[in-house]
Amino acid sequence: MINFDYIKPSSQKAAIDALNKDATAQFIAGGTNLVDLMKRGVTAPQKLIDITNLPLKNIEQRKGFIRIGALALNSDVSEHELINKKLPLLSQALQAGASPQLRNMATVGGNMMQRTRCTYFYDTTMPCNKRQPGSGCGALKGYNRMHAILGASDKCIAVHPSDMCIALAALDATVVISSNKGDRRIPFADFHRLPGLTPEKDNNLQKGEMITSIEVPDNDALAKRSLYIKIRDRASYAFALVSVAVALDMKGNTIANARLAMGGVAHKPWRLIAAENFLKGKTVSVENFKQAAAIAMKDAKGYGYNNFKLKLAPNTITETLKKVSGIT
Ligand SMILES: Cc1cc2nc3c(=O)[nH]c(=O)nc-3n(C[C@H](O)[C@H](O)[C@H](O)COP(=O)(O)OP(=O)(O)OC[C@H]3O[C@@H](n4cnc5c(N)ncnc54)[C@H](O)[C@@H]3O)c2cc1C
Ligand code: SF4
Repeated sequence: MINFDYIKPSSQKAAIDALNKDATAQFIAGGTNLVDLMKRGVTAPQKLIDITNLPLKNIEQRKGFIRIGALALNSDVSEHELINKKLPLLSQALQAGASPQLRNMATVGGNMMQRTRCTYFYDTTMPCNKRQPGSGCGALKGYNRMHAILGASDKCIAVHPSDMCIALAALDATVVISSNKGDRRIPFADFHRLPGLTPEKDNNLQKGEMITSIEVPDNDALAKRSLYIKIRDRASYAFALVSVAVALDMKGNTIANARLAMGGVAHKPWRLIAAENFLKGKTVSVENFKQAAAIAMKDAKGYGYNNFKLKLAPNTITETLKKVSGIT
């Protein structure tokens, strides 16, 4: 591990100023991802700015939305009464992630910024365009069982690892970002990026910016019928092979509104807009759910070891829709 400076500012302005001053400085929150990356030599910041003193831990009801501070712990969010009542999908997704110990350290902002779990990215002896642009992609023709089937490029086929972010994408959250220029808001769906020609960029956060909170619309109809299902190699402490977040607003047997997102399949939380549009106004039936899943998979492509996801993903979509709508 390299030497680095460490500071713990007590104001947001001081933290952002420190980030702007030093090209290699990075924020550290729970440290559950960043410290691993430093130990393995994937990243080498010369200054760590510990932001855990900042007052960004609140979870509160506002008019029409719920605001969650970027430093709220994953465990606190998942167990919070308001979140359990109003955003059960988010609570379920968080509970499906990592382990209780990790959730006790991990923060909302850090979870959004965590880097891919592609093993070639962590192994500095292997080529990886995300770690070292232009070096190649070890996974493309390598052991790519965990990798993407949607939205990938020939530069990178990594997947986004977060469970929490899949629920937030389905729930149409907004990311609040602060910098010395003020605040800006971006839709959650536009925060993370597809790899394209620049897989080294995971998201659209700019230099000198801090995630300060997430705002999630308050929608009781969608909260009533929502479900997160995660398929993984073991029941805990494992990243998703495929995960599906579904929220349905039902009027009797008819779907008035549907929200669907998938994890473990793409470089960013993958929203299934075409499948949502198909389901709108349809009655609940296995046939309609299978068709929605087929629409979602239209452009899916396997890379060898991950071909099994081409079946696993639509099956998981269908099963999640069946469960959430009460078809057994
Ligand atoms: C063994 C293991 C298993 C895991 N399993 C899962 C799993 O199944 N599902 C899952 O979703 N996750 C899983 N995780 C990942 C875990 O959820 C993340 O490591 C965690 O959420 C990161 O949060 P943190 O606060 O510790 O971030 P840190 O490690 O402190 O920071 C991560 C990155 O975020 C940046 N950052 C932090 N806060 C901000 C902010 N407010 N604004 C801008 N940048 C910021 C930091 O600069 C850094 O680049 C696992 C992790 C481990 C180690
Ligand atoms: S899939 Fe992406 S992260 Fe993995 S080796 Fe290829 S370029 Fe690197």
